[in-house]
Amino acid sequence: MPPYVGGESAIGGVNRVIKLSSNEGAFGPPPGAIDAMREAAGSAYRYPDGASTSLRRAIGKAFDLDPARIVCGNGSDDLIGLLIQSYGGAGTELVMSAHGFLIYEIAAKLAGMVVRKAAERNLTADIDAMLAQVTPATRMVFLANPNNPTGSLVPAAAVRRLRDALPGDVLLVLDAAYAEYVDRADYDPGIELVDAGHNTVMTRTFSKMFGLGGARLGWAYAPEAVVDVLNRTRMPFNVSSLAAAAGIAALTEAGWVEKCRSHNRQARATLREKLVRAGLTVHPSDANFVLVDLATAARATLADEHLRQRGIIVRNVAAYDLPQCLRVTIGTDEQCDAVAEALTAFVALHG
Ligand SMILES: *Cc1c(COP(=O)(O)O)cnc(C)c1O
Repeated sequence: MPPYVGGESAIGGVNRVIKLSSNEGAFGPPPGAIDAMREAAGSAYRYPDGASTSLRRAIGKAFDLDPARIVCGNGSDDLIGLLIQSYGGAGTELVMSAHGFLIYEIAAKLAGMVVRKAAERNLTADIDAMLAQVTPATRMVFLANPNNPTGSLVPAAAVRRLRDALPGDVLLVLDAAYAEYVDRADYDPGIELVDAGHNTVMTRTFSKMFGLGGARLGWAYAPEAVVDVLNRTRMPFNVSSLAAAAGIAALTEAGWVEKCRSHNRQARATLREKLVRAGLTVHPSDANFVLVDLATAARATLADEHLRQRGIIVRNVAAYDLPQCLRVTIGTDEQCDAVAEALTAFVALHG
C-alpha cells in the first residue's frame, strides 16, 4: 500500500516559498479563530468535551442542522477512515471514481476492501460508470463533490440519481470538503440526501475555507444509526479543545465565507484566463484550485521544476493517475499573479 504523500511545503535553499499545493484557504485562519485558540491555550491541560457539544451546536446553528445528527472528527479524514472501518472490511468492496480523492483508496485497502474505480467523463464522475462497478460485495460508494484534484462537480439531480439507483444497503458518502466555495444553484453538498434516506452521509471540513487544516477539524452529517456507529468507533477525545474553540469562532467570523467565496471566484477566473491566454489547458473548477493540463508527464515535470526554481510549490498529481497535470491552489491575488507569470514564462521558454 503506497503511503499518502501530502503537498510539499519547502524548497531547499529558498526562504520565501509560495505554497499552493494543499488547497489551504487563501487568507489563513479567521482572526477570531486565532484569538479563540489563544484563549483556549490556558485550559489545554484539561481533556476536551468528548461529545463536542458546543461545537456541534455551533455547526447545527450555522448550517441549520440537528446537532444530534452531527459527529466531529480530527479532520474529515478521521471520519472517512471510521466509516470505512465500520462498514467495510475483508470481502467487501468500495466504489469511487477514477480520479477520486486518494484517502478513500488508502483507508479501504487498510480495511481489507477491494477498491473499484469507475472511468470518468471529462474528468467528472460518471454516475452510470459508478453504478456499473457495484456488485453484491459493494458496501460503500464515495464521491467527493466537488472532487479533488479535478475540481469537477456533479449536479444535485445526478447525485440523487446515483442514490436512487444504488441498493438500499450501500452507504453513499458525499465528501463536500469544498462546498463553501460552490456558488451554483444546481448543487447540494448532500444535506438533502442525508435527510431523504437512511444510508447517505455527508462529510465536511474546516481545513479549506475556514483555514484550520493544521488544527484538524471535520464533521459528518449522518442518519441516526450511522451517528451511533461513529460515536462507538471514534476515539473518545478525537477533537482537541483548541480545534473546537477555533471551529466555533470560525463559524461566526463576520463576512468570512462571503469574502473568501467572492475572492476565490474572482481569482480563479483571472488565473484561468491568464493561463489559457498563455496557451495552457485549464479544467473548469468549482473549488479553490485549478487543474492545469500540460499535455505530457514530461512537460508537467518540467513546469513543476520551473515553478520551484521561482519558489512556487504546486501539486504534482501523478498519484491520481494524472501525471500530465499540476494542481494549483487559489491563493491571494499576488500569489495567483506569480504563478500565472511563471507559467506564462515557462510556455515562452519551453513551448
Ligand atoms: C482536503 C480534503 C479533505 C479534508 O481533509 P481534512 O482531514 O478535513 O483536512 C477531505 N476530502 C477532500 C476531497 C479534500 O480535498
